[in-house]
Amino acid sequence: MGITIKSSSEFDLMREAGRIVGLAKLEVANAIKPGVTTSALDQIAERVIRSEGAIPSFKGYGDPHNPFPASICASINDEIVHGIPGNRVLDDGDIISVDCGAIWNGLHADSAFTSGVGNISKEAAELIKVTSLSLEKGIEKAVIGNRIGDVCSAIQTYAEAQGYSLVRHYVGHGIGYSMHEDPQVPNWGMEPGLGPLLKEGMAIAIEPMLNIGNHRTKVLSDGWTVSTDDGELSAHFEHTVLITNEGPEVTTRC
Ligand code: MG
Ligand code: MG
Repeated sequence: MGITIKSSSEFDLMREAGRIVGLAKLEVANAIKPGVTTSALDQIAERVIRSEGAIPSFKGYGDPHNPFPASICASINDEIVHGIPGNRVLDDGDIISVDCGAIWNGLHADSAFTSGVGNISKEAAELIKVTSLSLEKGIEKAVIGNRIGDVCSAIQTYAEAQGYSLVRHYVGHGIGYSMHEDPQVPNWGMEPGLGPLLKEGMAIAIEPMLNIGNHRTKVLSDGWTVSTDDGELSAHFEHTVLITNEGPEVTTRC
């Protein structure tokens, strides 16, 4: 699929999808504490999304032989993305990345955050803070006339200056009637001024994943969960961003 340009009415539907994802993230964030299972968090997100009349976009996503079984991805500590919710109980000192998506009248929102569980190390708290700020650096560059390389470079420059490595194998993406559309929005390796031009009516999901150790990843035996290869911590923040005449508009804040 190529890059799609949305109408203002389609942007309105994307805003509503984003509002619902923001609400789901807020309720999940409020429930994160030691002793809670990741499946309990998943149930909260699914309840919020469905009670708002939307559809959880992650459930059933992917390979029909091994579809993603839940409404959120829950990735703990060295897990980066695509963790499957289940009976795992959150421990004091863990960090958890929650990724969540919803469809409203055919249009998507996709957003993620990382949170500490109880009391976390200074090292973990700093990772979370820098990952969140690196997303904001990317969003600032998501303006008409810039290119994807400007977004990528802002994220990479900031994150690497703070001493973190960026996951290279998984990237942000265009979003609209599909969760994953063109263009790809990498967090590493694209120079300013290069890549697809940002135009009014585009929508992109920007999603830096930062590692304390090296950038390498591996997929676990469940076929979904992606973790750091070296076992070090990773964090992930994501927003769905509309490219408008008034600048970047984030649909998925909570
Ligand atoms: Mg996501
Ligand atoms: Mg995404």
